[in-house]
Amino acid sequence: MSSYEKEKAFALETVRQAAKLVRKIREEMIGPAFTKDDKSPVTVADFTVQALIGKRLKEFFPQDLLVGEEDSAELCTMSGKPVLEKICTYLKTAGISANAETVCGWIDHGKSTTGKRFWTLDPIDGTKGFIRGDHYAVALALIENGEIKLGVLGCPNLKEAGLTDNLGAGTLAFAVRGQGAWWTSLEEDSGAKPLKVSEHKQPFETIMLRSFETQHVDSPRMSELKRILGIKNAPILMDSLTKYVVLAAGHADLMLRFPVEDHPYECIWDQAPGVIIIEEAGGKVTDLDGKPLDYTKGRQLLSNRGVLLSNGHLHQAVKEAIQQIQHKH
Ligand code: AMP
Ligand code: MG
Repeated sequence: MSSYEKEKAFALETVRQAAKLVRKIREEMIGPAFTKDDKSPVTVADFTVQALIGKRLKEFFPQDLLVGEEDSAELCTMSGKPVLEKICTYLKTAGISANAETVCGWIDHGKSTTGKRFWTLDPIDGTKGFIRGDHYAVALALIENGEIKLGVLGCPNLKEAGLTDNLGAGTLAFAVRGQGAWWTSLEEDSGAKPLKVSEHKQPFETIMLRSFETQHVDSPRMSELKRILGIKNAPILMDSLTKYVVLAAGHADLMLRFPVEDHPYECIWDQAPGVIIIEEAGGKVTDLDGKPLDYTKGRQLLSNRGVLLSNGHLHQAVKEAIQQIQHKH
């Protein structure tokens, strides 16, 4: 078997199963009466996915560590009890029988610290998109010796190959180091087709990706950057790592995140699965200073400032523009 074949097969099957389950939870739990204050469908879905993936990882790769976004502390309180019951019910629909204690054990598998070899998991990246009925992603990556080896993104509302003009039937995107980046249908394996970044070389022709949520964006610095680069095109607004698939597919050229007070450092699970897909599609990823992202500092990228993701061709020009902005502020 070629390298990482077993891990790839595991990750694809697991993320596909998890993403379909999460879609079902959303359809059943978020009716017209749903309000933003009620986080319950979100927590049920996040925890169910982390339980499912924790369970499967323990089974298939019992030696491996998992660094996941969630833990079961909240579920052990009185108010967590109905959520826990719902998690058990949904796992059952996926053919998994478990009691409350087992479920918490699977979820807490994700409390590992980082190590020589570990997986990162964001069970639902883009929670606000999930609630709104827009884009979100189930995001899983494998890191070994500080290098991302494999990444899988299950994007339940993304059109084929990352087309962005409307919501679609779901895309599963994946990459293994040195083996290219690929996509297939989320529903079933429709054959893997390659992802390739765009050829745009001129900053003025750039199409940027941006978080849908304006609180996640440093708008003044972003406007300044657009002005310096002469970018005229409106950005594509999307939630979650789904943006990284769109960039990898060549439908956009650039995405960056300035650190903001509420979010000074990126979490590893919010980057790793999408970063390898962009890199293997021919793109480039660094922090805003051009430094490679360092996955050896724990749950966050503590030695990096922000992220800069591009088709590669535009990277240097954008980095220089960022430097100009920073010198001014
Ligand atoms: P996006 O839809 O690209 O904004 O990505 C959502 C993810 O970004 C979440 O998983 C958050 O961890 C993270 N995030 C980015 N910026 C912020 C911020 N300013 N505040 C809170 N979370 C953020
Ligand atoms: Mg996230």
